[in-house]
Amino acid sequence: MGQLVKIHVSVAQWRTKTASLAFFSFSCCAFVFLGWDLVIVKMATGTVPASFMELKIRDRGLGLTKSMDFVKVSNLQRVKFGRSKVFVIRNSSSGSDVAELQAASEGSPLLVPRQKYCESIHKTVRRKTRTVMVGNVAVGSEHPIRVQTMTTTDTKDVGATVEQVMRIADMGADIVRITVQGKREADACYEIKNSLVQKNYMIPLVADIHFAPSVAMRVAECFDKIRVNPGNFADRRAQFETLEYTEDDYQKELEHIEQVFSPLVEKCKKYGRAMRIGTNHGSLSDRIMSYYGDSPRGMVESAFEFARICRKLDYHNFLFSMKASNPVVMVQAYRLLVAEMNVQGWDYPLHLGVTEAGEGEDGRMKSAIGIGTLLQDGLGDTIRVSLTEPPEEEIDPCRRLANLGMRAAELQQGVAPFEEKHRRYFDFQRRTGQLPIQKEGEEVDYRGVLHRDGSVLMPVSLDQLKTPELLYKSLAAKLVVGMPFKDLATVDSILLRELPPADDSDARLALKRLIDISIGVITPLSEQLTKPLPNAMVLVNLKELSSGVYKLLPEGTRLALSVRGDEPYEDLEILKNVDATMLLHDLPYTEDKISRVHTARRLFEFLSENALDFPVIHHIQFPSSAHRDDLVIGAGSNAGALLVDGLGDGILLEAPDQDFDFLRNTSFNLLQGCRMRNTKTEYVSCPSCGRTLFDLQEISADIREKTSHLPGVSIAIMGCIVNGPGEMADADFGYVGGAPGKIDLYVGKTVVKRGIDMERATDALIQLIKDHGRWVDPPAEERAAAAQLNEGINFAIGSCLLKQSDKIIAS
Ligand code: SF4
Repeated sequence: MGQLVKIHVSVAQWRTKTASLAFFSFSCCAFVFLGWDLVIVKMATGTVPASFMELKIRDRGLGLTKSMDFVKVSNLQRVKFGRSKVFVIRNSSSGSDVAELQAASEGSPLLVPRQKYCESIHKTVRRKTRTVMVGNVAVGSEHPIRVQTMTTTDTKDVGATVEQVMRIADMGADIVRITVQGKREADACYEIKNSLVQKNYMIPLVADIHFAPSVAMRVAECFDKIRVNPGNFADRRAQFETLEYTEDDYQKELEHIEQVFSPLVEKCKKYGRAMRIGTNHGSLSDRIMSYYGDSPRGMVESAFEFARICRKLDYHNFLFSMKASNPVVMVQAYRLLVAEMNVQGWDYPLHLGVTEAGEGEDGRMKSAIGIGTLLQDGLGDTIRVSLTEPPEEEIDPCRRLANLGMRAAELQQGVAPFEEKHRRYFDFQRRTGQLPIQKEGEEVDYRGVLHRDGSVLMPVSLDQLKTPELLYKSLAAKLVVGMPFKDLATVDSILLRELPPADDSDARLALKRLIDISIGVITPLSEQLTKPLPNAMVLVNLKELSSGVYKLLPEGTRLALSVRGDEPYEDLEILKNVDATMLLHDLPYTEDKISRVHTARRLFEFLSENALDFPVIHHIQFPSSAHRDDLVIGAGSNAGALLVDGLGDGILLEAPDQDFDFLRNTSFNLLQGCRMRNTKTEYVSCPSCGRTLFDLQEISADIREKTSHLPGVSIAIMGCIVNGPGEMADADFGYVGGAPGKIDLYVGKTVVKRGIDMERATDALIQLIKDHGRWVDPPAEERAAAAQLNEGINFAIGSCLLKQSDKIIAS
């Protein structure tokens, strides 16, 4: 039986008389002459599954010159084009899969498999995988989600490494990874393993390998698993140049990889070792980048090159990872990987992680967005929350995330089945709600109650109104002689569940001042009906809406509608005939079997289907005494899972007993983590490992203190040059350990200063930022606050920064 690829052909998208095309890495085009015009008919995807090995030979008429997982158009070809919208290519190789390929979104050049990327789009069901044995720990869908981390000690320091592994194991990790740079480290691995066994610690050990096939061969004899990075295992270090590869060059490099990698596969097979084929977004080879760019598609292909070798040698005890420091890229890469595995009929487990996430809340938030999103899609069998903190501190947030995923899958949290046609899950495209526009006759300006890049709404209590200046500061407004003004990261609107009495003139004046600077004040219908506040927006649920009671409000009152997302469609119909400033998607936290993510997806589908463009705010009410990590992880996993798909316009977090500043910062972190609204400098910092050449936590705190006021600037702080430059992704500036006590500075991926003494390196980094016109002086107030924060951060070094930040805030 031959295989079929159905390539869905979109109708002619543009007309041109161009007679040649250079190179389309992800798109496949057929060409038809109609009259005098050449019509380029863009086929849906540039991806043809690897199993279609005969494609090149059989389908040259289509202009395809590359047979593997993409299609390259090098020559103009005439192709007969019938009326059918489906083009079928028959492949003579064995197998019975039918792969349907389509554009990732309308007009997108990215071809993706039509096959689903998860088991269910309306509930959490774990993707079925085979079991991979890592020592005595089974990883896969039939087992709990495994938690892991990586040591930061010098691997050659056997005593320190053993101690750290024991601490990690005592914290409950299932697996631990150790960096193995060279022969001396590989020798130390034998001692580490023996020492741990003698102490009765049987936790599986994983060797992290980069650029060193011979080291991998050696350590495979004593460790339980080998992690290889396809970007640098057999390829030379990427030069970040777009090189022209001919078909032969490409093939030769593949043959070279097979030659270098096969002995390790054979060894792992012989010794019963596991393997992780771990692609990193930032360290793709030049070959992959020249064909696929720096893209999720390239990440998948990079891993598949290695996986095909494993499969050819009948070795299957491996799993995949697709890490990136950008959670949006990371989510897309894993989804694409699974979709492609589905096409191939592969069932290898997944190791999830966001690389270089950073520290404290930032790091937890990025991991929650990336890992939490995938876990709720039923993807992920082992996870690592990578933080710039001692590795044992990673285990608790990691376990909380794993529990969230396990619980969602056990309860199959979701919503009634619905057809999903509009969500883009392979390439990001934001659904932007209609921002408020000013209406005739309105006394106040409502245009600022939501922000175009993502809004932060905060709950405010009556108590807070008693100290207006403090409240304005908490909302991150600027104060000029006691009057509030909006700033870059000022809260956009507030939710006031209780209005002050009509005669509380001070409280009402404080609210008026907020409304005057276009900060929205939202209050429940019952409050507004009994103690009306001029120009407030009114929170109405669907029941109140259908009862018509809201019509008692003065005409023109702005409404904010609260919607659960699982209401019957008949109830949602009312949205078609209502004028609302925003929707708040609010599903009570107490719902066990109903999922916030899936109800929201259903709601967005309804809105898109009916061309309703309300902005939607993710409103999450946490129970009292929620642990801070649960709050960050809950917000990241629930709202972040939607925002990474471009679904949503802002966030409103309520948690009765949480610090106000913490909630506000968490909300802005969430928007920044989802690449929506930048309100502070973006940091990419590696978690450190045995290669690290300086105290990452200390240096990172110092750099943050001096540069945290530069929204739009991204700084990477990386422990070594082995992986640092490759893995700092799209950072604007890089601070990288070049040698002991010496720092190299980068602009993008180009090293511009080498070997700077560490004592001078932070100042040199700042100078570099200035030289590139990206520096602004912090406001005087911020300088003072930064100095205070620095005291706190210095105090916090050496222990969990998130926990310490409680103390900093409290002190
Ligand atoms: S950048 Fe270097 S020091 Fe940092 S985690 Fe990666 S290998 Fe280790």
